[in-house]
Amino acid sequence: MKKIYITRRIPEIGIHMLTAKGYEIDVNPEDKVLSHDELISALKAKEYDAVLSLLTDTIGSGVFDAVPTAKIFANYAVGFNNIDIVEAEKRGVVVTNTPGALTNSVAEHTVALLLSLSTRTVEGDTYVRKGNYKGWDPMLLLGTELAGKTIGILGAGRIGFRVAHILSRGFDMKLAYYDIKRNEEFEKDHDAVFCSTPEELLKISDVVSVHVPLLDSTKHLINTERLALMKKTAFLINTSRGPVVDENALVHALRNGVIAGAGLDVFEDEPRLAEGLTELANVVLTPHIASATVLARDEMSQLAAQNIIDFLEGGDPKNKVTK
Ligand code: NAD
Repeated sequence: MKKIYITRRIPEIGIHMLTAKGYEIDVNPEDKVLSHDELISALKAKEYDAVLSLLTDTIGSGVFDAVPTAKIFANYAVGFNNIDIVEAEKRGVVVTNTPGALTNSVAEHTVALLLSLSTRTVEGDTYVRKGNYKGWDPMLLLGTELAGKTIGILGAGRIGFRVAHILSRGFDMKLAYYDIKRNEEFEKDHDAVFCSTPEELLKISDVVSVHVPLLDSTKHLINTERLALMKKTAFLINTSRGPVVDENALVHALRNGVIAGAGLDVFEDEPRLAEGLTELANVVLTPHIASATVLARDEMSQLAAQNIIDFLEGGDPKNKVTK
């Protein structure tokens, strides 16, 4: 009987798919991220054939050594920066992800962060709850309208494209993007302007929304120098991965009026936050929940399970990210 280890509880739907195949499933019984040592000892308990991992698990040679029988790690995320892909490939371990399942959820969350900033929703909510609301005021919490402004998409892949679509079609924003791959169809369909450098995009955008994967080449893609290129009135939204933005540089920029505001779902050293971030009124913060809709999480659970099933049945899993 094939044995599968799941590093933390996920929606039942995928687990049912695996049990229906007759596999033996062990799920981390505690509702918490396992430490590196805990993960290794859990994986050493049995000769597992597959591991369903989460983005909070750091997986490299130590983990692969602990479970040499597992030739597939199905990551429950579209990002896979938590896994040492080079090491996996060296050992012939297949790694899969869950692309597409969460695209709309993350895109809608990105738009929610932007609207929270532009309409000052969170500030207004806090103001009312604190009992400060004494009646209509012509100058209270004046916001910004999006129509006619430029949304700059940094990384126009699945999520970036969806954000661009919602904001151009639904909010009449103008579109610009920077990506290492030019997408002429996107330009034609959405009247999007391609910028050949991130600098060019940052200079012309009223809102910059970051959707690149975390790679060596994208770490601190947004840093002090690039923040300084942005408009003073601009908003920065990051729902990709925290380390893509230099968080200390961002706090400094927000505090000193270099840019107008930021909406963040991801942080550089989660769950720790850069000093001073929570003291700023011009940021909206969410706890890495952009993919946390019931639909997206169910689909991610199904995709991860299907990748394991395909592999264990001798096929090629659809969402393989290793060569
Ligand atoms: P995708 O692969 O479809 O898109 C990524 C895009 O970034 C691609 O078009 C790629 O060409 C581009 N890119 C790569 N390197 C670049 C660089 N140096 N400069 C500019 N562009 C570059 O991925 P996706 O499904 O759109 O997801 C994007 C990222 O969002 C994921 O990698 C993940 O880290 C993050 N994500 C976060 C959450 C969340 O909960 N906050 C959920 C899902 C995904």
